[in-house]
Amino acid sequence: MGKKWVYLFEEVAEAEKYCGGDWEKVRGLLGGKGAGLADMSRADVPVPPGFTVTTEACNEFRKTNNFPEGQWDQQLAALKVVEQRTGKKFGDPSNPLLVSCRSGAKFSMPGMMNTILNIGLNDDVVEGMTKLTNNPRFVWDSYRRVIGMFGTTAFGLSDELFEHPMSEYKAKKGYKLDTDMTADDWKALVAIFKEVFKKNVGFDFPQDVYKQVELATKAVFGSWMGKRAIDYRRATNIPDDLGTAVNIQTMVFGNMGFDSGTGVAFTRNPSTGDPKMMGEYLLNAQGEDVVAGIRNTNPVEHMTETMPEIYKQFMGITGNLEKHYKEMQDVEFTIEHGKLWMLQTRNGKRTAKAAIKIAVDMANEGLISKEEAVLRVTPDQVDALLHPQFDDKAKKEAEKAGAFFAKGVNASPGAAVGQAYFDANKAEKMSKEEKQDTIMVRPFTKPDDVHGMIASKGVLTSEGGATSHAAVVARQFGIPCVVGANMIKIDLEKRVMVVDNKVVKEGDWISVDGTTGQVFIGKISATAPRLEEQTELLTLLTWADEITARKDIRTLADGRKAPGVQVWANADYPKDAQRARSYGAKGIGLCRTEHMFFETERLPIVQKMILAETSEERTKQLNLLLPTQRKDFDGLFEAMDGYPVIIRLIDPPLHEFMPDEEKLLEEVITMRVKGETKGLKEKEHLLAEIKGLHESNPMMGMRGVRLSISMPEIVEMQVRAIFEAAADCTLRKIVVHPEVMIPLTGTIKELEWIQPRLERIAKAVMDEKKVTFTYKFGTMIEIPRAAVTAGELAKLAQFFSFGTNDLTQMTFGYSRDDAERNFLLTYIEQKILVKNPFQTLDRDGVGKLMQMAVNDGRKTRPELEVGICGEHGGDPESIEWCHIIGNNYVSCSPFRVPVARLAAAIYALKYSGTSKAEDK
Ligand code: ADP
Ligand code: MG
Ligand code: MG
Repeated sequence: MGKKWVYLFEEVAEAEKYCGGDWEKVRGLLGGKGAGLADMSRADVPVPPGFTVTTEACNEFRKTNNFPEGQWDQQLAALKVVEQRTGKKFGDPSNPLLVSCRSGAKFSMPGMMNTILNIGLNDDVVEGMTKLTNNPRFVWDSYRRVIGMFGTTAFGLSDELFEHPMSEYKAKKGYKLDTDMTADDWKALVAIFKEVFKKNVGFDFPQDVYKQVELATKAVFGSWMGKRAIDYRRATNIPDDLGTAVNIQTMVFGNMGFDSGTGVAFTRNPSTGDPKMMGEYLLNAQGEDVVAGIRNTNPVEHMTETMPEIYKQFMGITGNLEKHYKEMQDVEFTIEHGKLWMLQTRNGKRTAKAAIKIAVDMANEGLISKEEAVLRVTPDQVDALLHPQFDDKAKKEAEKAGAFFAKGVNASPGAAVGQAYFDANKAEKMSKEEKQDTIMVRPFTKPDDVHGMIASKGVLTSEGGATSHAAVVARQFGIPCVVGANMIKIDLEKRVMVVDNKVVKEGDWISVDGTTGQVFIGKISATAPRLEEQTELLTLLTWADEITARKDIRTLADGRKAPGVQVWANADYPKDAQRARSYGAKGIGLCRTEHMFFETERLPIVQKMILAETSEERTKQLNLLLPTQRKDFDGLFEAMDGYPVIIRLIDPPLHEFMPDEEKLLEEVITMRVKGETKGLKEKEHLLAEIKGLHESNPMMGMRGVRLSISMPEIVEMQVRAIFEAAADCTLRKIVVHPEVMIPLTGTIKELEWIQPRLERIAKAVMDEKKVTFTYKFGTMIEIPRAAVTAGELAKLAQFFSFGTNDLTQMTFGYSRDDAERNFLLTYIEQKILVKNPFQTLDRDGVGKLMQMAVNDGRKTRPELEVGICGEHGGDPESIEWCHIIGNNYVSCSPFRVPVARLAAAIYALKYSGTSKAEDK
């Protein structure tokens, strides 16, 4: 026998065997939907019988545009088995079997590919079904649906071609709702749809039911490479070569009367994560009616009244599914004449907030381990959770001012402010080309609208519910979204939306609150939520820290065991340090001392210090700065009691502290022209001094350790201030670990020149104050030469801190500002660079230098402490690299600390062998 392309749902064990027992591979082979249906069948969940054509067949088909050898015969054979299971016959008017043909790739791509329902209907079968069901209305309705679906999905006709004659027909009859249509009306519509089909496709709607299956299978295969599906895969990083499976499944009907129905549900709330079923259903309706938001749905709990027995069965099944998959499930179900059928189960998409709550709850419920909980959440989700929300006060004020516009369903949380556009293309265009913040507004969205949604800050629809297309997509991409704001009347022709007498024109600003469902006219201010209020996130991060702190979770390059990467923060002021600490930082990795020089009352002293002509004069000015600098450090040590604090000695070129040269020149000229003399001399002198400081490439000029060597008084004062503050704190029982960092070192000779001098001051201060505490002297590694000679530097340096901003500039030879402004985008577009190396560490170049520096440095000094203080410290991919090369810590902005803590734990687990089940 040739290759097996087709698996009956009950043949899941065989598929598993073929995949070497790996369930992820089964999902790859049968697609998520197929694997789920098969898995449910095995667990005795009621699933309409059917079979799956594999993704392997799809990939063969895509190569040759033909079914692979044997596939079609296997499909026919499987269809025979389904006939036996159901006791019905495909194409037999006296007892017809109808099937659906459903797409389903490894990762769910909701609505991005094709599904055709009611396959097996033709003119004869319709007559037979009518006799059997005694329900001609239902049969003709189904028939017109299948003709329409074939037209649109298999032959790419626009929905409009079918929708238009249907609304015309309804209007002519004076009908408002689909439910007004009678059997004869649907029959008339079938004739119309057939006409449309023939006119646009070029041949009659196929009466051969096997031809229908063949066309449908090909259409589903083909939809893998449809524009919608490709766009979606780009946005979600799903590879193109996976292919989709095709599921052929016995139709069950939710539209057979009021003992029938259909619905979709999440086993937990996908917006908040609350452990409570959230779903919607409709009596006497078919699947897509619920999702499309055409009719008003009821919450699933309602079934306790309409069909209590089924409700109980449904809750039992979904409860078991959640236990089985250990994940929140998103299910589709249909009830046909009082019998429940499950049509789909998959891990449900959710908001960042829900993801965190569900992970923590499930760990607390004992369903998953703490490690799994940590692996269930992505650093991006933590980031999203700390994103801005509207200020309550600002919202109240807006309400008072009459700016409230509408309220809908809060489908995806967060605050969005932008200009309203009424179609996806316009929204995308204004966002991409005009760099506007846009809000996409539609009656409802369809898969073709996704590009506009992704490009927008927020989405607003006037129809649909919490499981509508707009809601599902927005949640997945973390876009704030309000749906079903049905008081809004959208006029797509005039391009306005109206509530009562309030009108919003295209391009007007609106504010959309996806957390509450409110919509306002105009802009409302937003702030980031407080971390201390996010209980579940705090719990999750505590677990993350526990994992990272395990002493043997990592093996270093030299074979020693070590904990994972700690997270420290960059903070210049005590208040930043406090925030960093409250966000969970375990140290300060970078305090930039020069920021303190810029404060208004200090700057004049700093300038005098720079202009001083003698060392005594300079020291005199510096002595004025000493107390304030000491106070800065004192506050920092106090805030970080017990934790290390790395203070970088002065780094920037001196001209940065001086007045602007051009402005000063202008002033001098004006004074000269006007003949003013008062103060002119001083200004002229200053100008000459500034000219003297001028460098043609200041970032590579007199700065960092170079400046300290030619003007050691400044750093001598700084070291004195650091150690005096540390000593004072120690006397106050605060535990200090000061670490003095020398910037921009390129050769060991520089350290040999400066470091002993500074260490002498440190010791002197400790002697004067009669206290001791541990401290370190170390250097930044930000010049390639430093990385290359790290083995030597480590003879003096007790720690390294990678300044990856400068290291990236100097390794690439790019000046960052110029690169980002002029050519970086082109480089990325032309694929010369994969990513912006200033955001994500370039592992092959900069990263390799870092790795070499760590290894060589530790050969000289095994206990060498290594960290990173560039912006990369808060970027998950860069954190991964720091984990790999053996960094002790990463230091980032206080706001990124929670994100980095989670990332550090995820990589600690990843490289210690705890794997993550991929599921998008
Ligand atoms: P999608 O992946 O876009 O959700 P589906 O294949 O799940 O597409 O099908 C679309 C709709 O049709 C869903 O509501 C689904 O429940 C319904 N459906 C699919 N197959 C059947 C069937 N055999 N019987 C009844 N309803 C079905
Ligand atoms: Mg579905
Ligand atoms: Mg630097």
